[in-house]
Amino acid sequence: MLWMLLSLCLVTRSFWSYNSKHIPVMPVTNCTMGSSSCCFAVCAFICVSLLVAGVDGRGLNHGEGQETFLLRTRPQKSLQFSSCSSFKIALFADLHYGENAWTDWGPLQDVKSNKVMSTILDEETPDFVIYLGDVITANNLPIANASLYWDQAISPTRARGVPWATVFGNHDDAAFVWPIDWFSASGIPQVHCSPENSPFPETEECSFKGTQRLELMRNEIECNMLSYSSDGPKELWPSVSNYVLKVSSSGDQELPVAFLYFLDSGGGSYPEVISSAQARWFQQKSQEINPDLRVPEMVFWHIPSKAYKKVAPKFLIHKPCVGSINKERVAAQEVEMGVMESLVNRSSVKAVFVGHNHGLDWCCPYEKLWLCFARHTGYGGYGNWPRGARIIELTQKPFSIKSWIRMEDGTKHSEVILSS
Ligand SMILES: [Zn+2]
Repeated sequence: MLWMLLSLCLVTRSFWSYNSKHIPVMPVTNCTMGSSSCCFAVCAFICVSLLVAGVDGRGLNHGEGQETFLLRTRPQKSLQFSSCSSFKIALFADLHYGENAWTDWGPLQDVKSNKVMSTILDEETPDFVIYLGDVITANNLPIANASLYWDQAISPTRARGVPWATVFGNHDDAAFVWPIDWFSASGIPQVHCSPENSPFPETEECSFKGTQRLELMRNEIECNMLSYSSDGPKELWPSVSNYVLKVSSSGDQELPVAFLYFLDSGGGSYPEVISSAQARWFQQKSQEINPDLRVPEMVFWHIPSKAYKKVAPKFLIHKPCVGSINKERVAAQEVEMGVMESLVNRSSVKAVFVGHNHGLDWCCPYEKLWLCFARHTGYGGYGNWPRGARIIELTQKPFSIKSWIRMEDGTKHSEVILSS
């Protein structure tokens, strides 16, 4: 039976590939893996699910001689501690894929970023990855579908079967900005839409508007079983990456050990703010799911809030702050519209994590919580400070949050306890 299904998958894939090659008009792509791969992935997932169901008996009902297959088309959207007691998260910040995409230099940076992530994933073997914004440099992408670059950025995590979630930064859906060196002597810019190393067909038309947040997010979600991202409540759009995930106990999937909140701090196609509507959404949501403040909470977004300026070390980083680089001023959101007040009013909120400033990697206490920077992970974007990633490790009993930075060269530094 299973072999029949696997054969069907392969036949379906071959058929789909054949048709893809022979249908002259193909969309840029609704799925960055390509329709055939996407179809194959869905099909393969069904086969594997059946295989798993067959091996451990889950999902099979043998009652009264009938076999009923219960299939999940997507994983349940809660994360869980494994039987050992820690849950580890890696933060990949500011990857900036697609930088100077029309040059040889640009794609080379993406290859290097890929290597950084692969090294850290293999070294730390995290249970979950958070892409903390500026996944791509959309203002360098003169093409219709930035999702292909987005897809490249998540591929090292996907290839290792590690689930992930994403939030938007200020570069992810920015409109294309003409580089000055594209202007010829006559003042007429030359169009470079399909460089040799571009994954796009030559017929692909140029688009300079950028791919909007919603499209990027939907593409990621629809094409990836391991994505825990969400396009958030409609009433908050065009602010898209607003959602919450539960990390459950190893013994009971209903029992939360921590909540992870994701907020869209704007930038790109609209102002760099967390709006009062988002702050209200956070208040309502947190009150609804964690009314007695019993469950610890952590918050992730891209652009630091103004509160980061208040706690920033002046020159050297010293206690109570912990970190290794303090090379620039905090580039904060344009205005504070209430989210920080909502956070400090909840004793359950332990820490906020942001990216955006590539030259900062510290954590400092603010009121009763911690404000942390991630670490510049990508070779795209400004700055030549060595690349790395912030790691967060949660333990269940007793509950604790430990964090450190793992560098591309394998070294580890800036360990700090964020739960005390
Ligand atoms: Zn950045």
